[in-house]
Amino acid sequence: MAFRQNRAKPARKKDWTEEARQAEGREVDAEQSENIAAKGSLSRQRTVTVPDDPNMLPPGLRRGTVVAMRGLYADVDDGERVWPCTIRRVLRTRLIEERHPVTVGDRIGFQVESSGDAEAREGVIEFVEARCGELRRRTGQRVHTIVANVDYAIIVSSAAQPKPKPHLIDRYLVAAHAGDMTPIICMNKVDLDHDHGAVAILDRYVRLGYVTLATSAVTGEGIDALRDVLKGRASVIVGQSGVGKSTMLNVVQPGLRLRTGDIMEHVNKGKHITTTATLIRLEMGGYVVDTPGIRSFDLSTIARSEYEMYFTELAEHVPHCKFPDCTHTHEDRCAIKRAVESGDIHPERYESYVRLFEESGEPI
Ligand code: GDP
Ligand code: ZN
Repeated sequence: MAFRQNRAKPARKKDWTEEARQAEGREVDAEQSENIAAKGSLSRQRTVTVPDDPNMLPPGLRRGTVVAMRGLYADVDDGERVWPCTIRRVLRTRLIEERHPVTVGDRIGFQVESSGDAEAREGVIEFVEARCGELRRRTGQRVHTIVANVDYAIIVSSAAQPKPKPHLIDRYLVAAHAGDMTPIICMNKVDLDHDHGAVAILDRYVRLGYVTLATSAVTGEGIDALRDVLKGRASVIVGQSGVGKSTMLNVVQPGLRLRTGDIMEHVNKGKHITTTATLIRLEMGGYVVDTPGIRSFDLSTIARSEYEMYFTELAEHVPHCKFPDCTHTHEDRCAIKRAVESGDIHPERYESYVRLFEESGEPI
C-alpha cells in the first residue's frame, strides 16, 4: 500500500510524529493508528491519529478545526482566526487515493510558516485526530465522510405547516445512530400545536429516552434550551423544508444563514471555489454544519441488517425471535411483532422499521 511505503521511510528529517513515537518509546503501527469509525467494512474511514496529550505537541504546533475544504487546501479555525492550510505529503498521498484523510470537522494539528506577511501566511497540517460522529454520503461504491466529528444531529419537525411526520423522524434517527451522532429531536412551531398532537408525538420519543426540544421561533419558547444544545458542539440541523430551521437559527444568532438550497459557489481569494459542506462558527462557541445541496441524510451507507440496531426499543426483543436471522417482517414467532401487539412497541415505529427495511437494498 502506497501509504505504508511512505511511512516506512522518514519523509522529513524533522518529522515530529517520529519524535513523538520515540518519546513514547514505542513504534506506532500504521494499522493501530487507523480508526475504524463505522460498522460496515466498506464504510471504514481511516485517519492518522496521535496521542491526545498536549505535552506531545512540539513547539509551534497548533490545534484547530477544519471548517472548509477547497481542493487540496483546508481552512483551519484555531479559535482566533482561520488559516489556509496545505496538507503534509504523507496525508496528501491518501487524499489522492480518495480516502479523505482530512475533511471538514477534523480536529488537526498544524504548523504555520514563521516568515512572511502575517495575512498571507499558510499552515501545514501535520496530523488528524481520530474521528467520531460522521456525516457520510455514498458515491458509487465509495462512502465519503462529508463532515467529521459531528456531535449532534438536530432533527427538526414542526407542529403544523408542515405537520409532523414520525416516519421521517425515524429515518433521521437511524441515520444519526449509524453516523454515531447523538440525535436531538426538536419540535418547532409549538405555538401552532393547538390540539397538543405534536407534543404527544414528542412524548413518544421522550419515552424511548431521546433528548427532545419543543421550540417556537415566534414566541421564543425552547430557544434557550436549543442554545444550550448547540453551545460548544458541532451540530447538523436536518428536517423537511419549511419546518423553520433557518428561522430558528436566525433567532439563536441573528444574521446566521445556512445555504440549504442549491449548491452555492463561494469564491475565496478569487481562486478556490467551495461547494462542499462547511462549518459555521457560533458566537457563543460551537459550530453548525452547512451542507449546501445536501438536504437529507444518505441511508444507502447502512446495511439492511443494521436497521434493527438503530431502533433502540427493538434491540431488547431481537434475541427472543424464533429464527436467529429473523428480519421481523414476514416471520412467525417474531418477538418484535409480539411486542407490537402487546403495546410495548409503538405500531408506527414498527411500520417505520418495516418501511426502511423494505426500501433498503441488499447489505453492502
Ligand atoms: P426551513 O425551510 O426549515 O429553513 O424553514 P424556514 O425557516 O424558512 O421557515 C418556514 C416558515 O415557517 C417561515 O414562514 C417561518 O416564518 C415560519 N416559522 C418558522 N418557525 C416558526 C415558528 O416557531 N412558529 C410559526 N408559527 N412559524 C414559524
Ligand atoms: Zn423477529
